[in-house]
Amino acid sequence: MLGILFSLITLPYAPNALEPVISQETIEYHHGKHLQTYVDNLNKLVAGTEFESMPLEQIVAKSQGAIFNNAGQILNHNLYFLQFSPVAADNHTPKGAILDAINRDFGSFEAFKAEFEQKGTTLFGSGWVWLAADKDGKLVITQEPNAGNPVTKGLKPLLTMDVWEHAYYIDYRNRRAAHLQSLWQIINWDEINRRYLEK
Ligand code: MN
Repeated sequence: MLGILFSLITLPYAPNALEPVISQETIEYHHGKHLQTYVDNLNKLVAGTEFESMPLEQIVAKSQGAIFNNAGQILNHNLYFLQFSPVAADNHTPKGAILDAINRDFGSFEAFKAEFEQKGTTLFGSGWVWLAADKDGKLVITQEPNAGNPVTKGLKPLLTMDVWEHAYYIDYRNRRAAHLQSLWQIINWDEINRRYLEK
């Protein structure tokens, strides 16, 4: 019998806690159906292979094809869903080391947000826009198609926005830019700062 190798992450907030930025219906489809499917697919694909006991980051760094696509999508969605907190939380502006790095590498938080939204809006097709750090802590914004993740470039992923249509079509229809702009209201910068400082 096939063991449970990878499992669906539990969200650290209620499914309606991100409204009106992300609706409960979107959370139920995006987390409960899309992400669940990637988890189920990966468990089938890695059974009996060298990948079945590897952490997701290593699978993404070493695999290709269907295993890469499903492992990448799990890693990406785990980082995505775990970076949010309810609108009413008080952690939606950066502080500390991550704020210092944003000011150093982009000039200001406003300039960073503008570049990030522009790169998310102009990414052609499906994919992800990322804030990532290099080995010296320098911040970069990358556009990754499909299941891409900056770990494949040796970068540490910190923050991401999903520009697959399934992430926003229920709530925003074709208005990708409006969706990206609204996501700042639920980013948990304490979590982004923790990722940045993590060894
Ligand atoms: Mn998605």
